[in-house]
Amino acid sequence: MRVVLSIQGSSDEPYEVVFEREGEVLIGSCTCRAAQFGQICKHRILLLSGDEIYLSGSDVVKVKEQLKALVEGSDLEVELGRISELSTMKTEVDRELKKCKKHMVELLNRDL
Ligand SMILES: [Zn+2]
Repeated sequence: MRVVLSIQGSSDEPYEVVFEREGEVLIGSCTCRAAQFGQICKHRILLLSGDEIYLSGSDVVKVKEQLKALVEGSDLEVELGRISELSTMKTEVDRELKKCKKHMVELLNRDL
């Protein structure tokens, strides 16, 4: 199974993202700068995570289904689940940290 997507990133030119799956093995490439240098390419991760940010047009639902099918039962499913889990934790930690800092400032601004 092969899915080819043209997505609009931060560059003027759209990026081409290609996912291929054979058996359980799922691979993917992206033409963005980060991917070219072997660094973390958010496009591939977000697309596989079910995020719609880079999808547009009338076939968003169809593409999301294709991507979901690519991930299900693949060797990347566990890793993607872990990323999702950690992202949720990070959001909660960031929120708590902000609350804590805000409280700290309130305490610092007290009158003696
Ligand atoms: Zn990319």
